[in-house]
Amino acid sequence: MADIIPVKTGRAYDIHLGRGILVETGRLAADVARTRKAVIVTDTHVGPLYGTQVKASLEAAGFDAPLYAFEAGEASKNMQTLQALYRFFAQSDLTRADLVVALGGGVVGDAAGFAAATYMRGVDFIQVPTTLLAQVDSSVGGKTAVDLPEGKNLAGAFWQPRLVICDPDVLDTLDAENFACGMGEVVKHACIRSKALYDRLLACTDIRAELSAIIADNVRIKRDVVEHDEREKGERMLLNFGHTLGHGIEKCLHYTGISHGAAVAAGMHLITLHAERNGLTPPGTAARIGVLLDKYGLSADSPLPLADVVHAALNDKKRAGGNLHLVLLKDIGDAFIHTLPVADLPAFFGLGA
Ligand code: NAD
Repeated sequence: MADIIPVKTGRAYDIHLGRGILVETGRLAADVARTRKAVIVTDTHVGPLYGTQVKASLEAAGFDAPLYAFEAGEASKNMQTLQALYRFFAQSDLTRADLVVALGGGVVGDAAGFAAATYMRGVDFIQVPTTLLAQVDSSVGGKTAVDLPEGKNLAGAFWQPRLVICDPDVLDTLDAENFACGMGEVVKHACIRSKALYDRLLACTDIRAELSAIIADNVRIKRDVVEHDEREKGERMLLNFGHTLGHGIEKCLHYTGISHGAAVAAGMHLITLHAERNGLTPPGTAARIGVLLDKYGLSADSPLPLADVVHAALNDKKRAGGNLHLVLLKDIGDAFIHTLPVADLPAFFGLGA
């Protein structure tokens, strides 16, 4: 039985979540489509695994469904891929009334979503997320983007999908590192919004058996946050818990050798340790986060010296004016935004000015 989770953003849509639902892509797409043309965008890992099924499902529902697969990996989330997508859309005679189907992880969702947002000033798109990270996080909320040589996600748009089709069964083929990466976002959601989810993850003895329910919990948490703050003016910033220092770590390592999830995991732990030191978070909270990270295959320890991470984080794009917004925890399940002048940051981290 599929779970239907409605999202009431400016443009409302439903998230259909259920095991085996991938083969229903055509039927579900037909319910929201205005025409019977849908371009499938995927990558070179996901295409061979699930492209045929999705294409067949769309064709069985009467769609003409050409498929484009770009090289898998973050390095493809760039302007060259965007141009290749635009050109494939044009060669496929895609019109503004047609659909783009993003079949893949966060990279495919972000790049295909941005291509859809901008091609002919906006084409409808459907997200079919195939990584845990994409299912619990990136496919919900309508952020799309590509990277520039100067930084990640610098060119992008808010563009809500018409529909999200989330099938936990596709995670069977996901490798352990990418699974752990998604668990980093799951732990983040528990930390910022749900003590119940934290307790559930702590007690869980077979994550695969509970996956559908855990994904549903996470989708609802992210949905609730983005419904209140679609354009990241306030509450949505809570989703950046661990990201300021996490981005600092990724930046120092030039985005190689560490997954985004691992960097965010270390970032959540590190910021919480220092929030404890500043009396803003109850003692022991970082240790409680660490226990969960460890359980789900992520290290809580920063691979780099604190000063380097903080220095890199200072250049992070989330810095607004002379102030930095840090997401901290009042407790597990209860996050808040602590704004402090950039000049006070070294003291916050116990570093010399
Ligand atoms: P990804 O899309 O690169 O996927 C990771 C790897 O797993 C890739 O090699 C991919 O081909 C492979 N893969 C995907 N599904 C698979 C499956 N079912 N079986 C086997 N292999 C599979 O990375 P990701 O972690 O999904 O996403 C990271 C991206 O998401 C980053 O670019 C990040 O900026 C973005 N992101 C966006 C948002 C948002 O709100 N839009 C939020 C968080 C992250």
